Amino acid sequence: MKIAIIGVGSVGSAVATAVKNTGFVHEIVLFDRDGIRARAAAEDLGHAASFGFDVKITAVSNYRGIRGSEIVIIAAGANQKPGETRTDLLNKNVEVIKDIVPRVMANVDSKHVKIIVVTNPLDVLVMLTQKISKLPVGRVVGTGTMLDSARLRTILSRQLSVSTQSISANVLGEHGDSSVVDWASIAVGGIKLDDFCKQTKISLPITTRNTISHRVHSAAYEIIQGRGATWDGIGAAVADLLRCIINDEKRVMTVSCVSGAGKTALAMSLPRIVGREGVISTLLPKMAGPDAAALRRSAKIIRKNYDSIEK
Ligand code: NAD
Repeated sequence: MKIAIIGVGSVGSAVATAVKNTGFVHEIVLFDRDGIRARAAAEDLGHAASFGFDVKITAVSNYRGIRGSEIVIIAAGANQKPGETRTDLLNKNVEVIKDIVPRVMANVDSKHVKIIVVTNPLDVLVMLTQKISKLPVGRVVGTGTMLDSARLRTILSRQLSVSTQSISANVLGEHGDSSVVDWASIAVGGIKLDDFCKQTKISLPITTRNTISHRVHSAAYEIIQGRGATWDGIGAAVADLLRCIINDEKRVMTVSCVSGAGKTALAMSLPRIVGREGVISTLLPKMAGPDAAALRRSAKIIRKNYDSIEK
C-alpha cells in the first residue's frame, strides 16, 4: 500500500517513522511546502528504513507525486507555541486545509481514498476537510482524542498499578481543552472502575479524579513547554489508526468524524468502529450527569468555532 503524508515537520516525521515500523505499507511519499525539509526527512527516514522493513520513502515536489495513495495523512500547519491553545491555530490552519485538500483530491481516487486529519484544531478541520473533499463522512477521520485517551490510560495505569493494556478508558468530545473523561465507562480487565477500586482497596475520590482529568488536559501543554512540540504520541496514534484501517480490524477507537448534516453537522470524538472504509459506525456512551453536560458543552464549542470560519 502507498500512503502520503502532507506536512513533514515534527509530527509528519514522527508519523512516517511509526508507520514505517509497522511494516504495513510498502511506500510512503512525503510532501511539504518546504521541499528541502521534505527531501531531508525522506533521506533520513530512508536510511532508518534500511534497518527494518523494506519501505520506499520519497519526497515529492508536487501533488502529482501522491497519485496512487490510498490513505493521505494531513499533518501540515502551525503548531502550538508555549501558552497557545489549539483553537488559537484556527485561522492559520483553515488556510492550510483550504490549500491542501483540493490539491489532494485532484490527485487521488475519490472512490477509495481515506484522509486522516492530524492538524489542529482537529475537529473543526475534520469538518472543513470533509466539506471541501466531498468524501463520505466515514472516510475523513481525525485522530481526535486517541492521544487524550492514551494519556488517560497511562495516568490510570500508574495510579492503579495495572498495565495500560488492561484499562479501557475514553476521553470524548473536542480534541482540546473541553474534552471530557467518560468516567462511567472506565473498566479494568472488564471490571467497572469503582468495583476494581473496592476489590484492590485503592481510593479514587472525586478530587483525585478531577486531578486526573486536569492532567489529561495539561499533558500537551507540559510536553510543549519542555520539548517545544509533541510528536511521539501522535506518531504512534496515527500508525495504530492506519493499521486498524489497512487490516480492517473493526476496533473501537475515539476518533473524530462528521455526524449530522447542515447546521447540525459536527465532528467530535466518540467511540467509533474503524475498519477498511474508515469510520463504520458510532457508539453513543451512557455518560453520568455532569460528564454528559460537559460533552454537550464541548460539542457546542466545536460548532461555534466551525461557524466562525464559515462566516
Ligand atoms: P511543524 O511546524 O514542525 O511542521 C509543520 C509543517 O507543515 C512544516 O514543515 C510546514 O512547512 C508544513 N506546512 C505548512 N503549511 C503547509 C502547506 N500549506 N502545505 C504543505 N505543507 C505545509 O508542526 P508540527 O509540530 O509537525 O505540527 C503539525 C500540526 O499537527 C499542528 O497543527 C499541531 O498542532 C498538530 N498536532 C496534532 C496532534 C493531534 O493529536 N491531533 C498532536 C500534535 C500536533
